Amino acid sequence: MQTAFTPEQLADPKIAEANTILRKCVHCGFCTATCPTYVLLGDELDSPRGRIYLIKGMLERGEAPTAETVKHIDRCLSCLACVTTCPSGVDYMHLIDEARAKVARKYKRPMVDALLRRLLAAVMTDPSRFHASVRLAALFRPMRHILAQVPFLKLLAAMLDLAPASLPAEEDVTGRHPAQGRCRMRVALLAGCVQPVLGPHINSTTVRLLNRLGAEVIVPAAQGCCGSLHHHAGNEDAALALARRNIDLWADADIDHVVINASGCGTVVKDYGHMFRFDRDRAKAEAVAAKSLDIVELVAKLGLADAKAPRPLRVAYHSACSMQHGQKIKRLPIELLASAGFEVVEPFESHLCCGSAGTYNMLQPDIATRLRERKVVNISALAPDIIATGNLGCMTQIGQGTAIPIVHTVELLDWAMGGPEPPAMRAG
Ligand code: SF4
Ligand code: SF4
Repeated sequence: MQTAFTPEQLADPKIAEANTILRKCVHCGFCTATCPTYVLLGDELDSPRGRIYLIKGMLERGEAPTAETVKHIDRCLSCLACVTTCPSGVDYMHLIDEARAKVARKYKRPMVDALLRRLLAAVMTDPSRFHASVRLAALFRPMRHILAQVPFLKLLAAMLDLAPASLPAEEDVTGRHPAQGRCRMRVALLAGCVQPVLGPHINSTTVRLLNRLGAEVIVPAAQGCCGSLHHHAGNEDAALALARRNIDLWADADIDHVVINASGCGTVVKDYGHMFRFDRDRAKAEAVAAKSLDIVELVAKLGLADAKAPRPLRVAYHSACSMQHGQKIKRLPIELLASAGFEVVEPFESHLCCGSAGTYNMLQPDIATRLRERKVVNISALAPDIIATGNLGCMTQIGQGTAIPIVHTVELLDWAMGGPEPPAMRAG
């Protein structure tokens, strides 16, 4: 793709990077076929290629983007299916990150939109604030259908829709958890912000499984949000501040790995080196990124020799976008589940996003709901006993549209290693 940046613009290293990315695109359009928003909406401007054109124009002009450009950028799920598909290796992930940062810096959003985004960022990056807000949301939930009729309160209704009616009991995993038997390695677990509130058993299950496999697990009280929510909203400074806190903690800690059991967070942690490329802490960030693993990567490293599914189950495996496109982990969870004795099946259109995408299901509820419905139809066609996935966001999103129990992959692996039956199955 031809670009027309001035030498002054190219002196900015971020623009120079964007220029290199843009020039790789050869307009072939292969990416459109796997882009969820293009598949649903059929609008070129809601395809990767169309967005690349819009981003090019926005960066070249250097002015505040138009509302039309922001609309199409906002509709992007950052699912990265286009990155997997692109034969030219266009680094769309870092291009859309730069575009969102530019939008955050230059575009003045309508007041309600701006307020809701600020509210989401404040609430979802802090477990205690998130816990309090979910309890509050439960009180207002009966009003969501009324709110949904008021155009500027539609997003608030979408947030209430996703809030669970009740919360599971808290399970605090902060601290040091020794390995069973010989200690083979020491790891730090990123507990997350939303997960300790909506799915606290995922962290305790992760700790139990890793301990059983010979890993000592540390969950430092001082660690916090990975920064992904701010990063995807274009709030660079806030994202870097949160990430830096974790990097300072993990870089010098006596650990072999940082383990992450929410693939959305893992994609960002593994990209810390890039996020800090112009920062004094670049080397530390790169070191942390290099020792970060998704939980399935760590389990595979430790080995699951004695795993045995307690009973025959047909598991529909949903691969989160951040897992398959962001981290390029596609077969490993399936192989682990199969080696543990589960029958694993994959839905049609497994490459397409379920609509969760961080806060996307709250900010773009119409598209997110259509994507969920499509995903649930494809999963249900497999008639599975259970759905497994490696990202809490997908569990919440898909779980809203089906009665089939949905669990984190680690719950099934732990169960096959002698742990308790996953709570979602006991409830079903
Ligand atoms: S597939 Fe790659 S090269 Fe082709 S239009 Fe899409 S981004 Fe550009
Ligand atoms: S990240 Fe996903 S939604 Fe965004 S352009 Fe690429 S395929 Fe489409």
